[in-house]
Amino acid sequence: MATIFCIANQKGGVGKTTTTVNLAAGLAKVGQRVLLVDLDPQGNATMGSGIDKRTVELNVYDVLLESATIAEAVIKADKCGYDVLSANRELAGAEVELVQLEHRDQRLKNALAVVDADYDFVLIDCPPSLSMLTLNGLCSAHGVIVPMQCEYFALEGLTDLVNTIKQVHANLNKDLKIIGLLRVMFDPRITLQMQVSDQLKAHFGDKVFNTVIPRNVRLAEAPSYGLPGVVFDPSAKGSQAYVEFARELVQRAPTL
Ligand code: ADP
Ligand code: MG
Repeated sequence: MATIFCIANQKGGVGKTTTTVNLAAGLAKVGQRVLLVDLDPQGNATMGSGIDKRTVELNVYDVLLESATIAEAVIKADKCGYDVLSANRELAGAEVELVQLEHRDQRLKNALAVVDADYDFVLIDCPPSLSMLTLNGLCSAHGVIVPMQCEYFALEGLTDLVNTIKQVHANLNKDLKIIGLLRVMFDPRITLQMQVSDQLKAHFGDKVFNTVIPRNVRLAEAPSYGLPGVVFDPSAKGSQAYVEFARELVQRAPTL
């Protein structure tokens, strides 16, 4: 059975996609079978896995509209070691089209059920909004991983996400919970970041992952080579941190 995680935070630029591709590569590196689902019409996770979003024939849009199965639409990201259900701008239209359809929030869940035995982990890269696409992700998942920067407004921004997760848990998916908060782009030399990090731990306790992802330029450079940092430069500090995070998750997964 696959363990399914959404990587979500309604803020943009907080490290969702970087976390999704590097965690996927990290999990693959420690021997896990991984499917990455790109649910963001920007298609950054797709491109960052070395797949040209403009040339793929079938993507997550076709799966959500039930004109293709995941088995038909999935692409092997050979260099990265995981499979990808890709996305591109077409997906923005799904938002409107889904509204008129039955089981509109359960489409991804139903599609994933068919490939459940093929993967150990499914990672869903969510768009920066609490939209119908994100809702499809949340309805499919066992839990949510929230990447966040330790900045002044970090805690404030979490409230909306936590409330949405509570509502989905109560009404649509009783499995759903917050697996944890992942501190990313972290710089311990910045006093404010240390303070916010302490606040996070005081507030959320062991929901804050032990692993911390440092700010590391190699992680930012890797997408332009169509690779996750973990594959592009395995010795970089940021890459090592993501592999460490993969190990932490594998350890935690049986107790979730
Ligand atoms: P999101 O998917 O939440 O919009 P991204 O993962 O695209 O966020 O990250 C936003 C920007 O920050 C990107 O340019 C990315 O390369 C950069 N970035 C993400 N994590 C790190 C990190 N740990 N160190 C340095 N740059 C990072
Ligand atoms: Mg993104």
